[in-house]
Amino acid sequence: MKTIAVLGSTGSIGTQTLDVVRANRDIQIAALAAGNNIGLLEKQIREFHPRIASVWEERAARELRASVRDLDVKIVSGMDGLLEIAVVPEAEILVTAIVGMIGLRPTIEAIKAGKDIALANKETLVTAGHIIMPLAKERHVRILPVDSEHSAIFQCLNGEDPAQIERLLITASGGPFRGRTRAELQNVRVEDALKHPNWNMGQKITIDSATLVNKGLEVMEAKWLFGVDLDKIQVVVQPKSIIHSMVEFRDGAVMAQLGAADMRLPIQYALYYPERRYLAGERLDFTLLTQITFEKPDTEVFLGLPLAYRASREGGSMPTVFNAANEKAVSKFLHREIGFLDIYRIIAECMDAHRVKENPSVEEILSAEQETYALIESRW
Ligand code: NDP
Repeated sequence: MKTIAVLGSTGSIGTQTLDVVRANRDIQIAALAAGNNIGLLEKQIREFHPRIASVWEERAARELRASVRDLDVKIVSGMDGLLEIAVVPEAEILVTAIVGMIGLRPTIEAIKAGKDIALANKETLVTAGHIIMPLAKERHVRILPVDSEHSAIFQCLNGEDPAQIERLLITASGGPFRGRTRAELQNVRVEDALKHPNWNMGQKITIDSATLVNKGLEVMEAKWLFGVDLDKIQVVVQPKSIIHSMVEFRDGAVMAQLGAADMRLPIQYALYYPERRYLAGERLDFTLLTQITFEKPDTEVFLGLPLAYRASREGGSMPTVFNAANEKAVSKFLHREIGFLDIYRIIAECMDAHRVKENPSVEEILSAEQETYALIESRW
């Protein structure tokens, strides 16, 4: 029997994690954390019986406490609540399915408490990979990727010598606007950007997929997870999302992981690694598939990718600024306060205005985040 805690249990990755738990009877849930969706969280508490659950606002926590008073569950709130969930003693694995940089402190505390991390929250590695990876090594904690591309690479590297990696090839669908010009992107609507061709995901990552910022975040995440230089990470557009990513080795061999677009596979792989288990669902039928096509990403139109490479090369606090500017800009786009292309403009202007702090501490990362938010609020 395994015991896990889940941050972000009401989201896309969180609910699919609970689907995996439901289908396998040997995982217990010790703790759940959500933002504001107390209706769904209550259902999850009644089904999975965690000992403790957390919501962001104390007002919502009070409401939830009242509605689950017939159960033996402690309800906590705020950052203290998230931190309590992250280090809950019974859990061996923390699933970080929360969206945004808010996942940073809980992830660090969980590592310090010796929990393995099933990592979906890529923003934490992007902003603090230099803290998280050495800390995980020191505490003998495994960082198990949940992102499908990183899980694919992780699976390709199984039993291989990492020193033999020549290149990581991260595949990208290209998003809903693949093939469009800048002029055509000028007036795209939120609804259009939320129509991902292959994956059904949370809103923020769906917009990030449309801008290719998500691919940029994934490049940075891969750099830290697999300890590979940025120059050895290449993005390849493969519109149908059949190949989830590839590794080229020094002898020229390329290993790829293929499968249906189903996030439950990487989630289950992370939870049971190194064991592989049955997973019900769609299978690839190569007789129907007939072809898999590849393209270069259009980095003239989709600036998310070149801006991410720039942020990663400049290093230090710059990936935090890239990420924080993107988080705020995406939120403004979703609230229809700015246009789609303004997301790039905001990220670029925030990066131009920032003086890089080398090797930032957690406090410095969080203050770079706040400075970026403040700059955006003062200018846009
Ligand atoms: P969703 O928007 O679907 O879910 C986000 C989750 O985080 C929700 O449970 C939400 O709670 C919770 N949350 C938000 N703010 C807070 C807060 N302040 N305190 C506690 N919980 C909070 O996101 P996704 O599941 O799509 O993505 C989650 C992470 O996984 C992201 O980092 C994303 O990049 C990554 N990822 C996602 C993939 C996908 O297929 N969806 C694929 C690969 C990576 P509530 O809804 O209750 O407010």
